[in-house]
Amino acid sequence: MASFSEMFSGRKRSSSVWTNFSYDEKQKKSKCLVSDCSMFVATKNPTNLKNHLMKHHRDVYDEMLSVEQEQKTQCNASKKMKIDGKFLLIISLSAEF
Ligand SMILES: [Zn+2]
Repeated sequence: MASFSEMFSGRKRSSSVWTNFSYDEKQKKSKCLVSDCSMFVATKNPTNLKNHLMKHHRDVYDEMLSVEQEQKTQCNASKKMKIDGKFLLIISLSAEF
């Protein structure tokens, strides 16, 4: 059975960079969806795609970083609530005896 730390250390697979790119399986390229760009980047590596945003769309890049930061904060908050919920459940069960 998975421990608490194993349950909550799961890595997020999708990157928020994909809100700005669309991957073309046939061409093996990612199309930039930022308005008036439409450039193809020959990778689906989120880090490389982020570099494109950083170089060509600094404002989009900055916004993406702040969204990522927000998501991290929300994740931490829900994590704490779940652990607290489990803890409170244990307390209420033992109180019945
Ligand atoms: Zn672009």
